[in-house]
Amino acid sequence: IIKFDKVIKRFGDLTVLNELDFEVNPGEKVSIIGPSGSGKSTVLRILMTLVNIDGGMVSVDGEPLWHEKGQDGSLKPASEAHLRAMRMKLGMVFQSFNLFPHMTVLRNITEAPVRVLGLGKKEASMRARELLDLVGLADQADKYPHQLSGGQQQRVGIARALAMRPKILLFDEPTSALDPELVGEVLNVIGGLAEEHDLTMLLVTHEMRFAREISDRVCFFDQGQIREEGTPEELFTDPTEERTREFLKAVI
Ligand code: ATP
Ligand code: MG
Repeated sequence: IIKFDKVIKRFGDLTVLNELDFEVNPGEKVSIIGPSGSGKSTVLRILMTLVNIDGGMVSVDGEPLWHEKGQDGSLKPASEAHLRAMRMKLGMVFQSFNLFPHMTVLRNITEAPVRVLGLGKKEASMRARELLDLVGLADQADKYPHQLSGGQQQRVGIARALAMRPKILLFDEPTSALDPELVGEVLNVIGGLAEEHDLTMLLVTHEMRFAREISDRVCFFDQGQIREEGTPEELFTDPTEERTREFLKAVI
């Protein structure tokens, strides 16, 4: 459902992704681990079309991101409509929550469905309350983000992403901005989502134990490429690459 084909991404002289080949299958839960600066967040930003690529090809759900397929199968540059349609397939949960500070929790969740999907206010609110219930915040709908703990804010962030009914959920270190005692409540919510068969999840994380528990596959990124990948069992207990072993020894 996600495919990177020899993708090159540069920032100035720095090559961040170096002919990256990477695939995620429908329904798969994949974790990305790796050292700082190895290109993990860049992969997610590319999928959200927040940054452009310098070479190769990225497709989501069989459709290229920066082009659209003409009727004869040829590729032409993407229209705004195409990009918007592609973005709707993905939901993103950020490290820093990124909630709208001047909106209530409920409004944070209903805003995009009302504006972008054209959902009625009543229907959007009903759905938002279901999602708040799912993330354990049924009683917080009328609060503002600053009245919530970091863990609660991040759970709102997850509910907000789910409100757009994405096929694919992206997480960029969703717990790394949290106090240690709040990490568990967020991981519990994400772990619950991981049990949903149809939802595809791509998670960048430093929480190795969690990655091990919920992932079908773990990819170790190093210098803009996948240095090693495998089942959590393979990667964490018996990595074949020296570089993977070094990294795991340093972080676990
Ligand atoms: P971390 O674990 O620290 O979050 P990461 O693996 O997510 O690291 P990226 O954020 O993908 O790393 O960044 C990869 C490299 O690209 C880094 O060296 C970073 O400084 C650089 N980089 C990222 N975004 C930009 C940008 N907008 N302009 C210039 N350089 C950038
Ligand atoms: Mg990052």
